[in-house]
Amino acid sequence: MKVLFVTSEVTKLYKRGGLADVSYSLPAALARLGVAIAIAMPFYESMSTKNVICVGQLALDYDRRRELVFIFRTTLPGTKVPVYLFRHPILNQYDGEKIVERFAFFSKAVTQLYLYSQDTMGGPYDIVHCQDWHTALIPLLVGEHTKVGHHRHEETIQSKQAKTILTIHNLLYTGESGVSIALKLGIPQSMLHIFQTPLGPAIRLMEEGMEYVDRVTTVSPTYAKEIMAGKHGKSTVDVFTRRGDRIRGILNGIDSDAWDPRTDKELPRTYSATTVIAAKAEIKKSLQHSLHLPELDVPLFGFVGRFEGRQKGLDLVAKAIAAIPDGQYQLALLGTGQKSLIQEFIQLARKHHTISFTHTFDERLAKRIYAGADIMLIPSKFEPCGLTQMIAMRYGTIPLVRKTGGLADSVHDGVTGFVFTEYTASALIVGMERAMAAWNDKTTWHSMVKTAMRQDFSWKRSAKEYLALYQDLVKGSS
Ligand code: ADP
Repeated sequence: MKVLFVTSEVTKLYKRGGLADVSYSLPAALARLGVAIAIAMPFYESMSTKNVICVGQLALDYDRRRELVFIFRTTLPGTKVPVYLFRHPILNQYDGEKIVERFAFFSKAVTQLYLYSQDTMGGPYDIVHCQDWHTALIPLLVGEHTKVGHHRHEETIQSKQAKTILTIHNLLYTGESGVSIALKLGIPQSMLHIFQTPLGPAIRLMEEGMEYVDRVTTVSPTYAKEIMAGKHGKSTVDVFTRRGDRIRGILNGIDSDAWDPRTDKELPRTYSATTVIAAKAEIKKSLQHSLHLPELDVPLFGFVGRFEGRQKGLDLVAKAIAAIPDGQYQLALLGTGQKSLIQEFIQLARKHHTISFTHTFDERLAKRIYAGADIMLIPSKFEPCGLTQMIAMRYGTIPLVRKTGGLADSVHDGVTGFVFTEYTASALIVGMERAMAAWNDKTTWHSMVKTAMRQDFSWKRSAKEYLALYQDLVKGSS
């Protein structure tokens, strides 16, 4: 089984969020199951050039000109998994303007190399596994060659054997863009599902991918159900109706080596399920000290994540802060994101001495919050899978989550965490009060902490499900 895993970010090489964690851990876990897997991703300017070698180049027809893309190879740190890096000025940065165009260009580069010069990338591959909208055009571009590729040199095209999978990590981001980006790639209009916007005709890369790909998966069973129920957009459901297909949900895992309180060098001290209670008390004190929070014996809530107004439930958190008297609890927030939300939380932290807000991306502080907090707040409006609740449990921190997506699939109310249903501030406040009451009953609390730590969220389980899916697809094609 040979798999090419295509993604926009990979932890230890370039990380922006949960997708990077998945793109590190899933290929590593699949490799451990014997899958010959390689990763393809852009080579951003800020990435390290250590242990990176140039293995080839590619002439790409783009916007009626020819662009030269250089292909580099490195290995996934800590593993033998090859990573192919695509370097071109268009792919220098992750964010900013023209982000959709950038990843459309990347998708074309990967497809072209895959179709015409598979050896450069260690091919041929049985499966191309695409992650999110960034790489969703690949199935269409591969499909274009199978459908209208007869004018090309067919013998060099391996797309007949290639099966494609698209994993949706978050349907909030669909890669919507003016139709011109597809035309720059040379995709015929007849293949696109164009819709009108006030700014003109547009496409969504994610939906184009879903139309052409062999299988669509997402990152938790509940999120898959929500998508099919139309909770994340009607146009997506229409695609599945046309396909006569359903989306399959496979719950993500976490990297149990990277997230391990027994060995974590970023913590003031390491701990296991037997030493957790004393260790967490010590780490909590050190966290309070470093964040300039008073050393009070009250429950310490933590929040680590993107300040995204549409998803992460921070509007509820702001209302809860206003409603619960200071002094009953403390809250340590860490995150980057939307300017207006950042401003709001800077103000809240100024006003309430019990609130600390660190506005940066800091993996070390994140780990100290996971270990030092008592309760992790995850009140998301929706959450495709979510990793922070699983990380929290691994560190013996009790997650308080809203019942949605992967949060619903991974947290057991009253056993490993607390779950509330309604997306309202009052429901969150009731949840916080329940958690604080449980924290005060030390026997119950310590048993919850230990139960949470014993949960198995390792990637092995999910990787086995992906492997079964790959095997099914390859069998289906023979
Ligand atoms: P999403 O993918 O929606 O951002 P997830 O819960 O799936 O959310 O994953 C978030 C990941 O990013 C976790 O590993 C979390 O620890 C990390 N993270 C998010 N924000 C920060 C930050 N400001 N500093 C350090 N790590 C962060």
